[in-house]
Amino acid sequence: YEMYDSVDNNSGMKYKMVKTVPYKGEKEKACFVTLARNSDLYGLLKAIRSVEDRFNNKFQYDWVFLNDDEFSDEFKRLTSALISGETKYGLVPKEHWSYPDYIDLDKAAAARKKMAEDGILYGGSESYRFMCRYESGLFFKHPLMDDYDWYWRVEPDVEFFCDVDYDVFKFMKDNNKKYGFTISIVEYLATIPSLWNTTLDFFNENPEYLHPNNMMDFVSDDDGYSYNLCHYWSNFEIASLEFYRSEAYTKFFDHLDRAGGFFYERWGDAPVHSIAVSLLMDRSEIHHFDQIAYFHPPFYSCSVDEETRIRNKCSCNPQKDFTWQGYSCTSRYYKINNLEKPDGWFEHVE
Ligand code: GDP
Ligand code: MN
Repeated sequence: YEMYDSVDNNSGMKYKMVKTVPYKGEKEKACFVTLARNSDLYGLLKAIRSVEDRFNNKFQYDWVFLNDDEFSDEFKRLTSALISGETKYGLVPKEHWSYPDYIDLDKAAAARKKMAEDGILYGGSESYRFMCRYESGLFFKHPLMDDYDWYWRVEPDVEFFCDVDYDVFKFMKDNNKKYGFTISIVEYLATIPSLWNTTLDFFNENPEYLHPNNMMDFVSDDDGYSYNLCHYWSNFEIASLEFYRSEAYTKFFDHLDRAGGFFYERWGDAPVHSIAVSLLMDRSEIHHFDQIAYFHPPFYSCSVDEETRIRNKCSCNPQKDFTWQGYSCTSRYYKINNLEKPDGWFEHVE
């Protein structure tokens, strides 16, 4: 390893950094990306430690942190101390974390109040809505992301339980994959009542964007008439930035944004990404990372196949695996793509 002095660009403060000697193989233009508040620091350190131990210390990919507020010096010191690649800290521009001028603020406030009364998760939260809108259609526009073609999203309090010994970004590129997930799940309908009809309007107006080999059957049980609420859990994503920057995605997001559902309802970035990925991509470009054992509260993915867990030095409990449970959509994903489920999956269904 190497030890060297580092200076924080913003504060001029000096600190020591320890870096393992960089991976000599060819690296992709890829980074980790984390949207976080200063108060997320300690939950994030645990997550970063786990990513570094299981994957990144072998590859030294960069890590981009984004925040709607300035990161504290403490946040920068403690996160960059753990990360083997370069670390970059960006401020979300105000216009990406506020209301577009066409949003009716009273209507948005009334919607929050109603959803809070109805007991909907984050129903009364304004910042959660800014977050979902930002993660849906804006994070990849941050100038710090310009250097990259691929990202792996990491959130506070997540954990990884198996060694990942290959370069996942190179895997994506070499296998023509554009979106990778670990956990899928059904959404709360109350957060997205008009999302599907807004989506249908978009494709009626722009039928050329519907991919001829799309995965409509992941998101709809009736050939597009209605949404079945299935989505990839977007707190983990390994995906192509080129996809999000495409004309098709840009127009799709703008159409959703105009409709106002990020504020008048509580559209999550997970169903938004998932619907877009399912309808705009070739279905062969979507990948299930079945061996990246992962936890984001409250759900685990942990391979039920013991041989896989041994080979990858996993530390998770397969009894907790969510992959083949009823509220997961991964069985559906396997079925519609004629993929074979791992041996023993049935013993783990409750
Ligand atoms: P959940 O996973 O849906 O329960 O939502 P989280 O609280 O984990 O938020 C999703 C991501 O957005 C996490 O990476 C959070 O750190 C981040 N996040 C959520 N709210 C805010 C916010 O108000 N400001 C910033 N900067 N990040 C936020
Ligand atoms: Mn989270």
